[in-house]
Amino acid sequence: MSNPSILKLYQEKFKEIVPPMKPEAARVEADRCLYCYDAPCVTACPTHIDVPRFIKQLASGNPTGSGKTILEANALGHSCARVCPVEVLCEGACVYHDWQEKPISIAALQRHATDHIHKSASFPFKPAPDNGMKGAVIGAGPSGLSAATYLRRMGYPVTIFEKRKLPGGLNTFGVAEYKMDQRTSLEEVKMLFRLGAGVVMGQEIGKDIKPEELLSEFDAIFVGIGLGQTHALRVPGEDLKGVWDALSFIQCVKARDLKPLGKSAVTVVIGAGNTAIDAVTQSKRTGAAKVVMAYRRGEADMRAYDFEYDLAKKDGAEFLWNAAPVRILGKKKVEAVEFQRTVSPKSKFKVPCDRVIKAIGQSKHFSLAKSFGLALAEDGRIKVDPVSLKTSHPKIFAGGDAINGGKEVVNAAADGKRAAWGIHQSLQPGTPAPEGSAYWVSTIDGRKVAPIPPRGTHG
Ligand code: SF4
Repeated sequence: MSNPSILKLYQEKFKEIVPPMKPEAARVEADRCLYCYDAPCVTACPTHIDVPRFIKQLASGNPTGSGKTILEANALGHSCARVCPVEVLCEGACVYHDWQEKPISIAALQRHATDHIHKSASFPFKPAPDNGMKGAVIGAGPSGLSAATYLRRMGYPVTIFEKRKLPGGLNTFGVAEYKMDQRTSLEEVKMLFRLGAGVVMGQEIGKDIKPEELLSEFDAIFVGIGLGQTHALRVPGEDLKGVWDALSFIQCVKARDLKPLGKSAVTVVIGAGNTAIDAVTQSKRTGAAKVVMAYRRGEADMRAYDFEYDLAKKDGAEFLWNAAPVRILGKKKVEAVEFQRTVSPKSKFKVPCDRVIKAIGQSKHFSLAKSFGLALAEDGRIKVDPVSLKTSHPKIFAGGDAINGGKEVVNAAADGKRAAWGIHQSLQPGTPAPEGSAYWVSTIDGRKVAPIPPRGTHG
């Protein structure tokens, strides 16, 4: 990025919301941890990072061991430390809440430890010797990267197929810039690739590569394709210039490619989930004078987390509740959105604006799933066995947003790990994970399902 004004804008408006902890502060915070037995923070993490262990390692001056503990359980631990909604996961479960005290800053400590690993540039794991059985991973997003990492650690040669030009999925293209920038996501991917996965970029399965080629060439396939395009509003005027889908908008912001966005006096964001909030805050921070978030239901029904909503309020957004768009008005480009109230009296009214961002959820990748003949749930999610994440096809496993409809990076990371174990158990039934390859524990509804940690480790 060479433009000094854009550089200045990003330095001012997109600086990290949570800056890194200084070593002394990390040591002091780590010392507050009670190292609880049966720690609720561990249960609350979908990847079950051994939180008290990694914090204890930090407190005792062992950031390398601490980072290893984190990455052992969560291959995406570096990005999760920045993007996880910890308020509703590990930190939300910390026992300090019982005494109305501030929970341990688990995310900041996790970041401190994984930053240390990245700075030292020594990834703490090695692949097991090749076992000759080949795995394909479709999609280089969080679930695919996680699956590839654990498969490599168990000795499976893996090839990742990614249709975009850069890996990382939503971590690279969709996370709000002030939570994590592209560079951090790509650094994490680079480190994971050191385990030796093959990568085929810019090739789409079903378009550039036939599904049957993959089925004949590989012993197992993991499908981590995320979600598709943002849903259409299905109202007149949706094709006008100035109407964006949230993902494309955020992608431009992430790539620091602001020219296509133009200037905006008033932006209307339609939707009320976390992606809508990202669109609101990033519109504001890229210079929109006024941003209005409109939702067809009431404030109490909004799906965004409270802390995300607070961020939008702090950024000065305005909110329009119980209002559904009926058409977008304008001659050549957007000039206004006409809404109808969804509660009585159901009157219509217009909000003048020069940009509209649609953030009402994403569609599923029906065509790829169908080309493999996979069974789908009614809403289009890929059906899987909840323990192994095997699909209706005996060779194919799936995880992440494609099976859960859209959750957090940490859920995708947990799925990738679970599916890697499912693949291993499917290809080599009853065989333990190679010594030292990993220990990890997965639970469903509080029940440990797999795998048993290898000897000499703990779970
Ligand atoms: Fe430490 Fe809180 Fe987890 Fe207990 S619940 S181990 S105090 S972070």
